[in-house]
Amino acid sequence: MSTIFARVIGKYQRTASRVMFRRMIRMRNPQPIVTFTFDDFPQSALRVGGEILRTHGMCGTYYASLGLMNQVTPTGLIFSPDDLPSLIAQGHELGCHTFAHCDSWETAPAEFERSVEKNRLALERLQSGVRFPTLSYPITCPRPHTKRRVARRFGCCRFGGQTYNREMLDLNLVSAHFLEKDRGEVSVVAGLVDETLRNGGWLVIATHDIADDHTPYGCTPAFFEAVVRHVANSGALVLPMAKALEQVRGGS
Ligand SMILES: [Zn+2]
Repeated sequence: MSTIFARVIGKYQRTASRVMFRRMIRMRNPQPIVTFTFDDFPQSALRVGGEILRTHGMCGTYYASLGLMNQVTPTGLIFSPDDLPSLIAQGHELGCHTFAHCDSWETAPAEFERSVEKNRLALERLQSGVRFPTLSYPITCPRPHTKRRVARRFGCCRFGGQTYNREMLDLNLVSAHFLEKDRGEVSVVAGLVDETLRNGGWLVIATHDIADDHTPYGCTPAFFEAVVRHVANSGALVLPMAKALEQVRGGS
């Protein structure tokens, strides 16, 4: 595929994802919010990243693909079943990332939904009574009909977009900022935190592994800690996804 053609296709996909099958609400959070999320999720996201959050009295959301458990993937060694009870006991939230880590654009919407259901059943077997209240779309932006199908199942669904949410929110396509794209430069995300504060928005931060020898999809513990410290000093409310969503809906 030529670069120009790939760019045109990419732009079409992102536009279709953004404008179709929206579930819009006006944001009513009484104060600015920051949420930390981890996709896939590698063991180091909980054992290193989760510990940094806990040191600052914060909890995050871990988007799990149960079909990846115990595997070494491009984002590192993925969590094991033993990690789930401690994640829950520490007050973190679980989120759905499909069972098979389906590419959100390349996978047919019906197959994507089957993988969401398979992930739900797999979690029910491992941790009876624990649910995934929100979803994050793996790899690419979702097809419009995938947005439509998952809307019935989740309070909200997270994507990327390298921005924060303000005023009007599409619950089927919540924006997030991936830390690995900052290449170790704290000022980019710090600027976004400050803008979120000024505009009373909701910034969802995302990444994968947290390790000194991190993959291209993760970051170092020192960088992550610097980001967490900036957020802690900012005065933003820090909540995992489902609890943040309650605030965005105007809950007290
Ligand atoms: Zn992923």
